[in-house]
Amino acid sequence: MLEQLREIVQQVNSAKDLQSALDIIVVRVREVMATQVCSVYLFDKDMNAHVLMASRGLNKEAVGRVSLEIGEGLVGLVAKHAEPINLEDASRHPSFHYIQETGEESFRSFLGVPIIHHRNVLGVVVVQHEQQRRFDEGEEAFLITLSAQLAGVIASAEATGAIAGVSPSGQKISDTVFAGVPGASGVAIGEMVVVFPKANLYQVPIRQARDLNREIGVFNDALNKVRQDMRDIHERLAGKVAEEERQLFDVYLHMLDDDALGKEVLERIQTGHWAQGALAEVALEHIRSFEMMPDDYLRERAVDIKDLCSRVLFYLQQGEQVHAEYSENTILVGEEVTPAMLADVPEHKLKGIVSLKGSGNSHVAILARTMGIPTVMGVVDLPINQLDGREVILDGYKGELIGNPSETVRQRYENTIREQAELIAGLEELKDLPCITADKHRVHLWVNTGLISDVARSLDQGAEGVGLYRTEVPFLLSERFPSEHEQAEIYREQLEAFAPMPVTMRTLDIGGDKALSYFPIEEENPFLGWRGIRVTLDHPEIFTAQIRAMMRASEGLENLQIMLPMISNINEVNSAIQLIKRAYRELIQEGLSIQYPPVGVMIELPAAVYQTKALASLVDFVSIGSNDLTQYLLAVDRNNPRVASLYSAFHPAVLSALVHVVREAKAAGKPVSICGEMAGDPGAAVLLMAMGFDILSMNAASLLKVKSVIRSISRGAAQELLEQVMQMDDAKTVRSAVDLTLYNAGVERLLRSSRTN
Ligand code: PEP
Ligand code: MG
Repeated sequence: MLEQLREIVQQVNSAKDLQSALDIIVVRVREVMATQVCSVYLFDKDMNAHVLMASRGLNKEAVGRVSLEIGEGLVGLVAKHAEPINLEDASRHPSFHYIQETGEESFRSFLGVPIIHHRNVLGVVVVQHEQQRRFDEGEEAFLITLSAQLAGVIASAEATGAIAGVSPSGQKISDTVFAGVPGASGVAIGEMVVVFPKANLYQVPIRQARDLNREIGVFNDALNKVRQDMRDIHERLAGKVAEEERQLFDVYLHMLDDDALGKEVLERIQTGHWAQGALAEVALEHIRSFEMMPDDYLRERAVDIKDLCSRVLFYLQQGEQVHAEYSENTILVGEEVTPAMLADVPEHKLKGIVSLKGSGNSHVAILARTMGIPTVMGVVDLPINQLDGREVILDGYKGELIGNPSETVRQRYENTIREQAELIAGLEELKDLPCITADKHRVHLWVNTGLISDVARSLDQGAEGVGLYRTEVPFLLSERFPSEHEQAEIYREQLEAFAPMPVTMRTLDIGGDKALSYFPIEEENPFLGWRGIRVTLDHPEIFTAQIRAMMRASEGLENLQIMLPMISNINEVNSAIQLIKRAYRELIQEGLSIQYPPVGVMIELPAAVYQTKALASLVDFVSIGSNDLTQYLLAVDRNNPRVASLYSAFHPAVLSALVHVVREAKAAGKPVSICGEMAGDPGAAVLLMAMGFDILSMNAASLLKVKSVIRSISRGAAQELLEQVMQMDDAKTVRSAVDLTLYNAGVERLLRSSRTN
């Protein structure tokens, strides 16, 4: 049955729309389970009912017409309890609800299984039989497994309809919500522009051709180039590989013939598609149908088509901008948005960011927060190739997108956008005021930087220093390792701009979700693998070049601090310090006049929390990286939207760790700061201030918000709040207590996490 299961899932996967997917399910399940009826009911939010969407065995006329309200009939019961119901005689069940139109009176046995996607019941799949018998355990398990595997496919087919404004049962709908997780706060309304990596058939968006003749021309050119490639390879391989392998390239050439793939693509272009989209669609249809073939040999041919069409796509994209023109209100959307993609959009046009992958603490979200661009992450069900050019509302507070907005909803969000602008304008006056509590306790607000543009933004917000300069950002934007001198130039800009204020430069922190294209790290479990200091200690040449560049850049400014990421033991610190000392001695010998900089460690692993004392004794300062600390303490991947709701820096375990580190660092006489995103959350900042952090380092966009909240509260009240929350045993309760204190202190709606729209 496993083979049949795989086959059905593949067939459903390749269906062109929701209705075809459901039709495949009912036909194939009825056949494989040898039942007389198989039906699928889907929940339609607009109708607030389960609609019979497809059936084999029940009256055809009932499909699309019959619906059951929530909790109504056996189907409603399966959905309500999100549990299967298996009955030998359905008619005897008290919830049985006979609907004449279906003609189901002759079917006795009933097995209904819920279709659940991310805890949401999408619908119910039902099999029925005339014979009065219970479906056996194997049959029940088969349907449960199938339904679990199909839920994702159905959800994404539903999303494809929803983005076009159509409900599962074909009703016109508006205000469809696509849930993700908050990336950066704020609201935006704009036009989606899809960005996609090169030569990836799966992510090419559907777009209308502006000039059909041009599209046909570029497609024919690309085709000719691939034909030439195939002929060249064919020639080069003569005598080197078996003749039958060489023949493969002839097969490729035939596939490209005018009456094969090439013709199909041209036909599709003629209907108004741009060449890249037409090619991708045709290619994917063929790839999917080959993937479904029962024969192993034929199945593998899917790879050939993928190869061949990717080559054509490569040539189509050569010399052509991958992105569309950015509209004035661009909402940038990508399967996985990278810093380079962000950097490509003119800043005044970028109004919002949507990444299908990643979560609120992924590095792209952090960059977006620094830039102050509302962002939603992890909208996994969004049909990426259907989005280009569509209007959408992006709610970065809730982590949602709203498609086909109605006038009422749009107005509501326009009001929030206005309120947001007023709030930001109102905060301007705080720029030159000190960050001081109502009872005169001084708190130091520093910034986290990475991009060159962060410098102006940070200075403009009245930052008092840089608590974290993520040196990997320029590395990520480069196409090779930058040389020592290139690095020194970049670092000098940061140091000079902030001098005499201190700039804390973190040594290269790659690995995890930060991959350099020119230094790929392939690992099963990258967040527990070769990351941060582990990489650079294994590559002392990279580490030393970076340290030398930092020190060289600091000549005459003397405001450099060096910080080490991902420290899990004292040996790493000792080894790093040895290398730093050696680099310093060398530079002095080379005639540079520089001071030895303060060196600090990041506390971002649970192991480091419990070694704060030992680590602090080796260095000049410690800084908590709460993003990673939360991820590692709670065992929640910071990048994975599926577990995003479990990720909270307000978790009592995280709060206790923070209190512990502050206490230990202070006992060792070393300053302690925090540079995780938590510091930029106004409510969290109040708790951190009460814990005794000397410096809060955050993204520039949060700085005035935090300052405004800290200025509106007394240290005494913050300490009382801290005492209270340290007794609490749940992150949500802590969050509510913090929000209540902010509310009582008169903090504005948009600065609290519990704001309501
Ligand atoms: C952290 O982990 O909290 C941190 C500041 O570093 P990054 O987010 O770059 O991993
Ligand atoms: Mg970190």
